[in-house]
Amino acid sequence: MTIEQGLVKEIASIVGEENCSTRAADLYTYGFDSSIHHHNPDIVVRPKSTSEVSELIRIAAREGIPVVPRGGGTGLCGAAVPIMGGMVMDLTRMNEIKKVRVNDLYCVTQAGVVYDRLNEALAPYKFFFPPTPGSGEACTIGGMVATNASGMRAVKYGASRDYVLGLEVVLADGSVIHVGTNTIKNSSGYQLERLFVGSEGTLGVITEITLRVAPKPKKAAMALAAFDRLEDAGTFVSNLISLPLIPSATELMDDICIRAVNKAVKAGLPDVQAVCMIEVDGEPEMVAKELKIVEEVARRSGAVTVQTSDDKEQMALWTSARKSVMSALSRLGDELVSVSLADDMAVPISRIPEAVVAFHRIAEENRVIVGTYGHAADGNLHTKMLLNPCSEDDWIRGEKAVGQIFDTVIALGGTVTGEHGVGMSKAPYMMKERPDAWGTMLLLKKAMDPQNILNPGKMMQWEGGIIRDLRYPCRDICDLR
Ligand SMILES: Cc1cc2nc3c(=O)[nH]c(=O)nc-3n(C[C@H](O)[C@H](O)[C@H](O)COP(=O)(O)OP(=O)(O)OC[C@H]3O[C@@H](n4cnc5c(N)ncnc54)[C@H](O)[C@@H]3O)c2cc1C
Repeated sequence: MTIEQGLVKEIASIVGEENCSTRAADLYTYGFDSSIHHHNPDIVVRPKSTSEVSELIRIAAREGIPVVPRGGGTGLCGAAVPIMGGMVMDLTRMNEIKKVRVNDLYCVTQAGVVYDRLNEALAPYKFFFPPTPGSGEACTIGGMVATNASGMRAVKYGASRDYVLGLEVVLADGSVIHVGTNTIKNSSGYQLERLFVGSEGTLGVITEITLRVAPKPKKAAMALAAFDRLEDAGTFVSNLISLPLIPSATELMDDICIRAVNKAVKAGLPDVQAVCMIEVDGEPEMVAKELKIVEEVARRSGAVTVQTSDDKEQMALWTSARKSVMSALSRLGDELVSVSLADDMAVPISRIPEAVVAFHRIAEENRVIVGTYGHAADGNLHTKMLLNPCSEDDWIRGEKAVGQIFDTVIALGGTVTGEHGVGMSKAPYMMKERPDAWGTMLLLKKAMDPQNILNPGKMMQWEGGIIRDLRYPCRDICDLR
């Protein structure tokens, strides 16, 4: 679709020329998120206010132009890739934290505020917004709500959805609605704010968010437990939870991830089959007590070594080793890159040992390298496949392994995505996971966006396989669908 010059001028008159572009370099850049996919939009806009968003959507509705809202572009499944072209709406200029009211336990922020920035603003009040995604330096609050993002601390503190009290949303006809409240309790009709959580830009553009905030824990400490058997690490996590002891973070890494971070960032992790990093937080006496219990349970579950620390530097080193897994995997082999395929399944916690063993077997059978890591205590496991992106054969084997991994996860009673969302890379598998629900999602989509202009073609509208519209320069060789 080419957007004719008169229309470009009309759009530029709303956001200003400097915030509207049809330049080839901008279109190419905004065709990416952090997934394997790429597709150019026809125009990029960067609104500053809700009224600008509303005017832009009115024009898009009038002209039948697809609109893809975009936060930090850190999504891993192509949700922000404009697969049908049209308008990418970059919301990062809407970056004002409007209110911090810790006495009422909430804050109000525009959608484009970056996660870490919000927490910097909350820190002086001794409060925080806890989900802690690995992409916190770049992802936006709007993007987090739109994908129901979470992260390391979900087992204790929950996901984005658990903090959304209210939203301001621009609908597909340009009208602005307010859903939810500023209060901790609310039984006032349908909980529509929940409808937009995880909607990935397909039902409306979120412009403002009222978030519940949580008090910051006074102290944290960590344990690093090393295992000679991957399944023992999974059993350890399950043993800990059932005590009950709910850690604030539980990060599992298998031998491939350990090798990758030791090579790429000299993390000095033990050379074993799996490590588990456990964080406990709260009142200092409780932290010390829980850390001891963690150590005991780790040894009882088969840990060969357990190190503990409450030293901030040491804990930051361990955390940054875990955070570097994704990029480190891409540096493990010369021609291989780590791709986000089957990257964030969640299973019931007690099924983790079976899941990790099955992932390794599937990788071996399909001759693909799969690194497994994740926030194990909430059942959320990440796998990253190492592929040569210019080899059609690698993609074929990779896609086969993806299908088998997702079948395993569904059979274990899990979900194909615990936190990253559906977008393109997981769309057919979400429909497999939810055979009796995706029809209702389609009905909702049709009712709320009858012209199908909001992030069209994604989630339950997806057709075909996932190895297409690839971001790699050799995409002509390997577009398989
Ligand atoms: C290194 C790395 C680590 C990561 N770690 C985690 C993790 O630990 N946990 C986790 O959950 N995710 C993680 N992610 C994935 C990603 O960061 C999250 O999904 C994040 O919430 C996306 O936010 P964003 O602002 O970048 O959204 P984008 O990628 O820009 O968009 C994601 C989706 O949200 C929609 N959207 C964005 N803003 C709005 C809005 N204002 N209104 C309506 N729709 C909107 C887009 O259309 C798209 O469908 C990671 C990604 C990377 C690259």
